[in-house]
This record gives sequence, C-alpha cells and structure tokens, in this order.
Amino acid sequence: MAGTETKCDLFIDGEERAPKNGSYYERENPATEKPFAKIAEGGPEDIDEAVGAARRAFPKWSRLPAGERAKYLLRIAQALSDNRDRIALVNTRETGKPRRESAMVEIGGSIRTLEYYSGAHTRLNGETLQVNENQISLTVKEPVGVAAHIIPWNFPLLLSFWKIAPALVAGCTMVIKPAELTSCGIFEVAKICSEAGLPDGVLNVVPGEGAVAGQALTEHPGVAKIAFTGSTEVGKTVMRTAAGGMKRVSLELGGKAPCIVFADADVEGAVEACLRGGFFNQGENCTAVTRLMLHEDIYDGFLSAYLDRISRIRIGDPEDPETEFGAVISKEHYKSVMNYIEKGVSEGARVIAGGDRPREIAKGHYIAPTVLEDVRSGSTLAREEIFGPVVCVMPFKSEEEAVAMANDVEYGLAGGIWTRDINRALRVAKAVKAGYLWVNTYGGIIPETPYGGFGQSGIGKELGAEGIDNYLETKCVNIFTGESTGKWYRG
Ligand code: NDP
Repeated sequence: MAGTETKCDLFIDGEERAPKNGSYYERENPATEKPFAKIAEGGPEDIDEAVGAARRAFPKWSRLPAGERAKYLLRIAQALSDNRDRIALVNTRETGKPRRESAMVEIGGSIRTLEYYSGAHTRLNGETLQVNENQISLTVKEPVGVAAHIIPWNFPLLLSFWKIAPALVAGCTMVIKPAELTSCGIFEVAKICSEAGLPDGVLNVVPGEGAVAGQALTEHPGVAKIAFTGSTEVGKTVMRTAAGGMKRVSLELGGKAPCIVFADADVEGAVEACLRGGFFNQGENCTAVTRLMLHEDIYDGFLSAYLDRISRIRIGDPEDPETEFGAVISKEHYKSVMNYIEKGVSEGARVIAGGDRPREIAKGHYIAPTVLEDVRSGSTLAREEIFGPVVCVMPFKSEEEAVAMANDVEYGLAGGIWTRDINRALRVAKAVKAGYLWVNTYGGIIPETPYGGFGQSGIGKELGAEGIDNYLETKCVNIFTGESTGKWYRG
C-alpha cells in the first residue's frame, strides 16, 4: 500500500470500524493512476452490525419531532459547507472529475438538497376525511424503518444526499453501501454528520463489493426500504432480492437521453447547453445528452459551432481549478467506452471529434469529448448506455420523425427540446417517453422537482414532494363518531 494517502473504514454506530474480515483493497486516482486510498471491504457480518445499529437508533430518531430532525439537516448542511474544499478534493481524487464540479455540484447540490428537505417537516401531515356523518378517517404518515441506500460512482455524494436528506426528515435511520470505486467521500461525510451531532446509528456506511455487501444489505430482514441508484441490470437483481422480504423499493437506473433541436431554436443557446449536457462530468451522467437530434436545416451550422466549442474545453488535471473536463472513473470503464466507439464505427458511424485519449495527456484514464455522426437509430450506439463522453449526432426532417427517434430506446429517463414554438414544445414533451424533460435549457436537477425514469430507467421518484414518500408509510385510522355501529348479525 506504499503511497496510499487515505484510509476508508466502515462507519457504524457513530464510530469508525475495521471490517470483520480485516480485508482492504486499494483504489487508484483515475487521473494519475497512482494509489489514492485503501478501502475497507465490508461483508455480511458488517452489514448485520450496521443494520443492527440503525434498528436500535430508529425508535428514538423516529419519535423526535420532525421539526427537531429538520435542524440536524441544517447542521449537516453547515458542516458540509465548512468542509467543502477538503471533501471536494477527496471527491475529485476518487472520481477524476474537475474540482469545481465536486465543489459546486456534488457538495453545493447536497447542501441545497438538505436545505430543501429541512423544510419538508412542515409537510409530513396526513389528511382528515369526513367519510360520512358518523365517521372521520385520518391518514397519518409514519417512517418506514431502516432504509438501505445503494449508490453508484458517478455522483457519490449528491446521489447519497438525494436519499439521506428525505430519509432523515421522514424519521428513518439508514445504512449506505457506496460504490467500490467511490467510498471515501461518503465515509468522510459520515464522520462530519456525527461531528454535527447526528445521533449514533442513524447514518451508517459500509463500503464493500456490490455482490457481497450490497446483496447482504438488500437481503437483510432488518431493512424495510431500498433506495437504489445504478445500472438497470443490477437494479433488476435488487428488485428480485427485495421481493423476498417485500421491501419497499425505488430504483433510479440508466438513461439514453435525446435532445431535440428544432429549426426555430436559439441555436447559440442550444449549442452551449448541449455541450454541458453531453460532456459535464465526462459524460458519466445518467441524464447526459447522448443523442443530439438536429433538424436538417440547422444541422451544419449547429455542428460547426458545437465542434468549435468542444475543441476549446479545458481537459487536464482535475485538481487544477481551471480544468473543465477530467478523467473517466477507471481503466475498465475507459475500455468499455472505447469499445463502444469502436463498435459504433464498425456499424457505420463516423468520428468527427475525439474518439481517443487526448494526445497531450500521457497518464490517467482520459477520453477526449467524442462526437459521432451517421449513427443509425436502432444501432448499438443509439440504443445502449455508454456512460462516457460520447455524443451521437442524428439529423431529422420532421417532428414525427424526431419523436419516433427519441422513443426508439428502452430507457426513459431524461430529454431536451429546443424550439421557440410553445405549442410544439408541449406537444413533443407529451410525446417523448421520459420522466424528466428540459425545454430550451438542459441539465440541472433541482431538489424541488420530482426526478425519476420511465421504462427501463426505473421506478419511483426522488426529490421534490414525492421524494419523501419513499420513506413514509401511510396509515389510515377510521374513527366512528355516531351512537351505534348497528348490527350485522341479527341474533
Ligand atoms: P452498478 O449498477 O454497477 O452499481 C450501483 C451500486 O450497486 C454500486 O454500489 C454497486 O456496488 C452495487 N451493486 C452491485 N451489485 C449489487 C448487488 N447484487 N446487490 C446490491 N448492490 C449491488 O452501477 P454503477 O456504479 O456502474 O453506476 C453507473 C450506472 O448508474 C449507470 O447505468 C447509470 O445510468 C446509473 N445511474 C442512474 C442515475 C439515475 O438517477 N437514474 C444516476 C446516476 C447513475 P459495486 O460498486 O461494489 O459494484
């Protein structure tokens, strides 16, 4: 482990612990390929302890007035803000993403999410129904119990807080299983939450292999709810496992977002937004613009401005504050993205930007922002999730054709529509099968809005008012207020 700077353990019941099996693995910094951290490899025994701690913490935490719980969210938000630079650096070193994205998006977005849900305690109310003159029915909201949070590697902090914040305010306690590649940031966050006064056992973190620690967590009988973000394939496994214990499940899965630019669009604005939409976070983004659909009348003009802007993206050391585009997450993922590019070319697509590692960078898992044209709707590139900096440009002639192309995938997570015609915008928004759309802008998922996919992109919503329902059960209490309930049996 020579050269390793960071150690990431388990965080259970308010304390750092070594894994029971004593096993650690090494994680490299994807931008330097040098060892960055040694990470605990949690197993089923550790999961059992973490769930036990969360269960013991549940009665007291869930009985706290919601307004008191909300104060903890604000304290954690403040602690994150105080530690922004330090945590952003850890996040950048484990993900390869530029530091400004770590600071502004991962940590800034987490703070916003905590602040939004700190206000949600005022909305944990049920309804009073006067069913008839002799009966009042009340609905009350109760926390579901211990929640399991399974997190992918692309936004390890932000996606954790999309789950942590509503779970905390709802009164749930939790166990988080981060991705193997990105466990350090959330371990640091757990320590910060504890320092901010969060009671022991409310938030526990167990890094480890998905098929071992993740599987043990989804199987554990002490878990009531699973909130999973990750690939569609693993999401299906999680759902099957959860069925055994009839656990509540929400799944945020893969995507293959279209962005449709009509001839009457603000082309300059669309170029800028699609640039960010495609290459932000190195394209490792489930809502990334992967299929850029351009009306044939603006195709050439759009493309030349777009390629010019791509050539000026600052690629390099993610720790340099000037860097705008960093490394992809790992060597394996680098190979997977490159294989997709090769496959696309073998199926007739043409690389018109990037397509390889940037020439000036010798070390690290870098792939230049890549654009392909002549991509056939229905081909591998147009249908499968690549999850890297690869955009397919596809021309269209009519609105009907654009909608058909947009819907020619199994995913239905996000998409964009660019037009100055409001009627067309609304018509196309209705026709596109996806859960989260932008019109005349692209990107930015704000905590106030419900986010989630259709089809193979998942089940349920995170964020917004609906996001908190993931962590609540609705109980109906029927109260008879009349003189007599009457007789059913005559005798
Ligand atoms: P994976 O599905 O491979 O992994 C996600 C998480 O599940 C990881 O923590 C992983 O652990 C864990 N896991 C793996 N196997 C199991 C199992 N059998 N039981 C329980 N947990 C398991 O996704 P990636 O981490 O590769 O992330 C990329 C994917 O996430 C993409 O498909 C992307 O679209 C999707 N995503 C969706 C978002 C959305 O909001 N819809 C947002 C961001 C990403 P380990 O790391 O140890 O394998």
